[in-house]
Amino acid sequence: MEIINRRKRMMSVARKLRREENRTIGFVPTMGALHEGHLSLIHEARAMCDVVVVSVFVNPAQFSPAEDFSSYPRDLARDAALLAEYNVDYVFAPTVEEIYPPGFSTYVTVEGVSDELEGASRPGHFRGVTTVVAILFNVVKPDFAFFGQKDAQQAVLIKRMVRDLAFNTEIVVLPVFREASGLAMSSRNNYLNDEQRRAAVVLSAALSKAREAYEEGERNATRLIELARSVIEKEPLARIDYVSVNDGETLERLDKVEDRLALVSLAVFIGKTRLIDNVVLGEARKYDAAGA
Ligand code: AMP
Repeated sequence: MEIINRRKRMMSVARKLRREENRTIGFVPTMGALHEGHLSLIHEARAMCDVVVVSVFVNPAQFSPAEDFSSYPRDLARDAALLAEYNVDYVFAPTVEEIYPPGFSTYVTVEGVSDELEGASRPGHFRGVTTVVAILFNVVKPDFAFFGQKDAQQAVLIKRMVRDLAFNTEIVVLPVFREASGLAMSSRNNYLNDEQRRAAVVLSAALSKAREAYEEGERNATRLIELARSVIEKEPLARIDYVSVNDGETLERLDKVEDRLALVSLAVFIGKTRLIDNVVLGEARKYDAAGA
């Protein structure tokens, strides 16, 4: 496994792999602090592609000044050891200057859908995400790129960007990987103490409640939201940012869940830590816990 810091080196490796060796490249972009959720993406990339590239880059452009960019967990040595165990071929771990050279001034924005849900709570976040993913795709030139349904809106936006800007990369979205308690794996779970970690189970419990109601025939989005909120409101350490029911593809807000896939998503503060989770209604548990 080679760790690459320079974009030029990464570009020449990718060019050689594709042109001279005709090998397919699978790419998993991450911000490091790897957990089993990331590893489930890497596992799939390994199964589908000849060469696996994982990027580890905490992207300043997707954090607002008030957010946790400087405190975000970073441990490249630990991440690299895990990635070697998973037979990853290349780790791309650039510095901020490698990605954003002096004078950087070009951004990619998916209009409309970037402003809903996470975008409403975190203005500018998705501009940072789509910009860095566009840069990484141009550097790595992957045949396939793997994303988690954990960040459902991100997956929708990336697919839209790839289609609109004609990137030659197929996007593969994989299920939310959960702990046995139901808690979705997240690098930000590292911020939680034991009591908060127990409290954080309300996110998935609330989504399960909504899904059960849906399975029993409830189609009214307001009612599904109320049911989910009622679970979270019972937990004193939890503070709701939003609970929402949206079309699974367009992310348009829904009043009623009908034939199309619906995304129930939420963001909840546990202490100072903001966690997100979601579930898709209307499909045979495709997006459900593959995990522990
Ligand atoms: P991050 O390092 O948080 O930017 O995440 C990198 C990739 O891993 C993104 O595509 C995430 O959606 C995905 N991911 C993070 N947590 C999970 C999880 N619990 N299950 C599945 N995928 C995940």
